[in-house]
Amino acid sequence: QGDSDEGIDYMFKVVMVGDSGVGKSQLLNRFVRNEFQMKSKATIGVEFLTKTVVMDHKVVKAQIWDTAGQERYQAITTAYYRGATGALLAYDITNRQSFDHVEKWLDELRVHADNIIVMLVGNKSDLSSGRAVPMEEAKDFAKQKGLFFVETSALDSNNVESAFLGLLSQIYATVG
Ligand code: GDP
Ligand code: MG
Repeated sequence: QGDSDEGIDYMFKVVMVGDSGVGKSQLLNRFVRNEFQMKSKATIGVEFLTKTVVMDHKVVKAQIWDTAGQERYQAITTAYYRGATGALLAYDITNRQSFDHVEKWLDELRVHADNIIVMLVGNKSDLSSGRAVPMEEAKDFAKQKGLFFVETSALDSNNVESAFLGLLSQIYATVG
């Protein structure tokens, strides 16, 4: 496949957002490389990773942007969001504060990328004994805000494909 864009029908830019430590980089690592690291580095070393998928007989290339930890300093630049048609907004189901901050991330998305399609992701579902955010509460919140929602685990792979592919198919349904 290489880096060629030959045969690509659609290219969608997706951004990863959410508090530091919720698992954004490992969700991306799991989806694109089927890998996971317990000791996640602050950055994956590149601005984005790409994954090509086929949907509805069309070849869709997703360019998925990850932060290099700038979210810790509220220093994500406008360039990060430019041209994005979708966002994966992650929180950690064991970290109440990361869920409480979802609204702030939605505001940030609205400012930089109006009409962006958002998949809300409650990550670390493998740590259910430490759960601090009830699934029903997040589901209701997502419904109220018009977001798609799923709980995932980058560690055991639960729903990671569903989260990304669900987002991509919603983007496809809108702009494809
Ligand atoms: P980011 O700051 O949002 O990019 O978060 P990272 O992807 O760097 O992950 C932060 C920490 O949480 C790392 O130690 C990861 O190994 C860990 N982590 C990420 N996803 C999961 C998960 O689904 N389950 C568990 N148990 N740990 C996770
Ligand atoms: Mg990260």
